[in-house]
Amino acid sequence: MKSKTIYLCVILLGFFAFNTKAQEGYQSLPPKTSPMPMKPEMTEIWEPEVKIVTPANKLGDAPSDAIILFDGKNLDQWVSQNDVTKPAPWKIVDNTYMEVVPGLGNIQTKMQFGDCQLHLEFSAPDEVESGGQGRGNSGVFFQNRYELQILDSYNNRTYRNGQAASIYKDHAPLVNAMRSPLEWNTYDVIYTAPRFKANGSLDAPARITVLHNGVLVQNNVTINGITYYIGLHDYPDAHGDDVISLQNHGNKTQFRNIWIRKL
Ligand code: MG
Repeated sequence: MKSKTIYLCVILLGFFAFNTKAQEGYQSLPPKTSPMPMKPEMTEIWEPEVKIVTPANKLGDAPSDAIILFDGKNLDQWVSQNDVTKPAPWKIVDNTYMEVVPGLGNIQTKMQFGDCQLHLEFSAPDEVESGGQGRGNSGVFFQNRYELQILDSYNNRTYRNGQAASIYKDHAPLVNAMRSPLEWNTYDVIYTAPRFKANGSLDAPARITVLHNGVLVQNNVTINGITYYIGLHDYPDAHGDDVISLQNHGNKTQFRNIWIRKL
């Protein structure tokens, strides 16, 4: 009798153990559906159609959706930074290029920009004068704050984060791709404006990629703040789109073929 009871208990325990295990196993099984077979069109996106832009015949010239900031003819897109109600006081030469007039201040665009693609051509003054930061100094200020340096860096040493194609006192260029003073240089820039939070604090700093004469010199670097001559750069205030300005550093730097695309 005793052995019969023990035998029954063993059977019952075995049944419960099996049943519990079976339930656990069932719960952990994936649903009995087979994955949908992928077809090529399942990863194709058609709408909206990508906007058509007609590229220029010559690389470096403006594509069809660019805003022409300077084509050699006039300074209609620019004003004086000393008095924004006045025309830009720099000189137009041969209906081809503009030249800085020392002593007459910076110039700035009438329009304001944030994220953008900028093409600009410049040449150091024809006559080589002075040295270091005193030779062919100018600059492009994005949002009127962040300077991409222009300098005659052809056979002209200065601090590396202050030479041509540096983000002034922030990032040295990867290489020195400067041409001689009697030749034209190109800058092709992709600029991402800084983002600010609702309370005015910095959310994401500005970023910049620069090609100097087709050579990559700034590779999506972080701009660490407003360009200061003295002191560490920072983002003291939130701001939106703003003008692009060109620096008058007292040297007769020349500019031509400037166009921009808003991004
Ligand atoms: Mg400068």
